[in-house]
Amino acid sequence: GTGGRGSGNYRFFTPEMHEQARARLTLESALRRALERRELELHYQPRLDVATLQVVGMEALLRWNHPQLGSVPPATFIPLAEDTGLINAMGAWVLRQACRQNQLWVQTLGRPLKVSVNLSPRQLHDPQLVADVQLALREAGMAPALLELELTESSLMQDPQAAALTLQRLKALGLELSVDDFGTGHSSLSYLWRFPVDVLKLDRTFLPRLTSSVECGQAGKLAPAIVHLAHTLNLRVVAEGVETREVFDFLRDAGCDEVQGYFFCKPVRPAEFERYLRSGMAAAPGAAS
Ligand code: C2E
Ligand code: MG
Ligand code: MG
Ligand code: MG
Repeated sequence: GTGGRGSGNYRFFTPEMHEQARARLTLESALRRALERRELELHYQPRLDVATLQVVGMEALLRWNHPQLGSVPPATFIPLAEDTGLINAMGAWVLRQACRQNQLWVQTLGRPLKVSVNLSPRQLHDPQLVADVQLALREAGMAPALLELELTESSLMQDPQAAALTLQRLKALGLELSVDDFGTGHSSLSYLWRFPVDVLKLDRTFLPRLTSSVECGQAGKLAPAIVHLAHTLNLRVVAEGVETREVFDFLRDAGCDEVQGYFFCKPVRPAEFERYLRSGMAAAPGAAS
C-alpha cells in the first residue's frame, strides 16, 4: 500500500527502544529543571604541588542529586546536557559558582589557590563563553590568573581554527588553559603548539599499574617522555587519577609538576574540602611559612 514504507520503519522501533527513548526524555526534562531546583552542586578535588605537597588548587566537578534517582554520574548527564544544549546554562552556573567559592577560600587562607573548570566541546564553541567567563570573574572579584579552563583534545580538534581564536580571546582575559585527558584522543603533542595552552593533564591511562615492586607497563614508560616533551613546549604537567604512593613516586621521578587523585583526596563538598585544606597545610612538609 501507499503508507507501507512509513509503517515499515516503525517495525524497527522496538519496545526496548521506545523504553530507552522515554527514559531519556524523562531524564532530559528532569535535567532542565535541575538548575532552578538547585539539584546541582560542585565538588572539589585538590591539586597538589609535587615538590612541596602543598595544595595549589582544585578541580570543580559537577554533581547532580536527583530527588528520586539519587546521584546521577557526570558520565550520564554531561553528554545529555551537551546534546540538548543545556550545558551552556549549566556551564555558566559552574563558572560563577567555582569562581565565587575559590575567591572565598583565597580570602580565608590569605594565599592564592587556583580553580579549574571543565569545558565541554559545545561550550567552547558557544559565542557566549567569553562573556560568561568575564562575568564569573568580575562577580567573584577573582584574579583571572587563578582560573584554569580544562579542554579536551577532541573539542580542540572539532574546528581547530575557531577553537584557537576562542582560546586567544580567553587567554587575553589573563586566565590559564589546560588540555584534559591528554593521551586519550588524538594524543599528539605536535598540534599543541598551535594553541595557547599552559597545562597538560596526563590521563590515567599513562599511569603505570604498579604492584608492590616498581613495575611499569608500556603506558608507564611513556609518561616520562611525555613530561619531557611537554616541558620543552613550556607546558606544566598535571597527573590525574593518582591512587597509590607508588604511582606518586613514579610521577615525581618522571618530573610531573602537580598531582591529583584519590591517594590524596576524592572530590568532596566545600566544607570537607576546607577541612582538607587546613589539615593538608599543617601536614605538608615545609608549609610552616
Ligand atoms: P575529568 O575532568 O577528567 O575529571 C576527572 C575524573 O576522575 C572525575 O570524575 C574524578 O572524580 C575522577 N577521579 C579523580 N581522582 C581519581 C582517582 O584517583 N581514581 C579514579 N578512578 N578516578 C578519579 P567525575 O567527577 O565522575 O567526572 C567525570 C567527567 O565529567 C570529568 O572528567 C569531566 O569530563 C566531566 N565533568 C565533570 N564536571 C563537569 C563540568 O562542570 N562541566 C563539564 N563540561 N564537564 C564536567
Ligand atoms: Mg577535568
Ligand atoms: Mg581528566
Ligand atoms: Mg577523565
